[in-house]
Amino acid sequence: MAIHEIQAKQMLSHHTTPDSWFGLKYTFNIYRGCQHRCIYCDSRSACYGIEDFDDILVKVNAIERLSDELPRKRVRGLVGTGSMSDPYGPIEAQYGLTRRALEVLLRHRYPLHLITKSDLVLRDLDLLARIAETAAYVSFTVTTSDDALAAQLEPGAPSPTRRYAAMAALARAGVTVGVTMMPILPFIEDTEENVTAIVERALDAGARYVIPWFGMTLRDRQRDYYYAQLDRLFPGLRRRYEQRYGEAYECACPNAARLRGLFDGLAARHGLLTRVPPYEAGPVGEQLSLL
Ligand code: SF4
Repeated sequence: MAIHEIQAKQMLSHHTTPDSWFGLKYTFNIYRGCQHRCIYCDSRSACYGIEDFDDILVKVNAIERLSDELPRKRVRGLVGTGSMSDPYGPIEAQYGLTRRALEVLLRHRYPLHLITKSDLVLRDLDLLARIAETAAYVSFTVTTSDDALAAQLEPGAPSPTRRYAAMAALARAGVTVGVTMMPILPFIEDTEENVTAIVERALDAGARYVIPWFGMTLRDRQRDYYYAQLDRLFPGLRRRYEQRYGEAYECACPNAARLRGLFDGLAARHGLLTRVPPYEAGPVGEQLSLL
């Protein structure tokens, strides 16, 4: 793995219509490539143009760009990070750019949604608690509650047990927390026991929402990488994928409908939301310096 420092021309992407999963108006990613090395990661797909996903590109001017771009927005809306690369990969402990980005959001009173698999997020609990006075949502991706299986599937990421512990600490500090339960890998994670365990442990950790998707995506070189890892970890399983999915991009678990029924029952019984609670975007008013 190599680390390359680069200059970003622009940090914030603008969504004309807030995205359907999280209601995001703006998104940014400070890093490209990701040290968590999940075997299923969609960011390895050719369309993203990341030649070697295990190399990390650091946008070292990210804070300068964000500090310039955010105050020029006319509509306040949910700002998201973590879709293409985990904002709390190990490299963040060295660079601290995610923390400084949170400071920019806090200064301009923007609401935040971030996705992570890392308990390094607790380092910034003080800032997240203050952003929560506007709105702060932290979604932890959990695809299995089994730490040993996760160590195979997500070899560079902290264990699910550490993620649940971080979730509980954030919830106690007033941050809205939840789980992105996706992907659920066909023939590996698509069991009723796994779905039930994720929901129950999320509830124990104070989750307000669990966003499910019972399947995965596969395409071009990301599929090649995933199948190579299946050959290493689960010999013979690739054949079942090839027979069932061929060249398909969206690969639903064969029992997706049954798992969805189980999940919906659990969510209804426990009053669990299945989306991030909505944030009402509004015009930017007076901005206070809070730092
Ligand atoms: S944490 Fe997310 S971005 Fe990083 S490798 Fe895993 S799926 Fe990809």
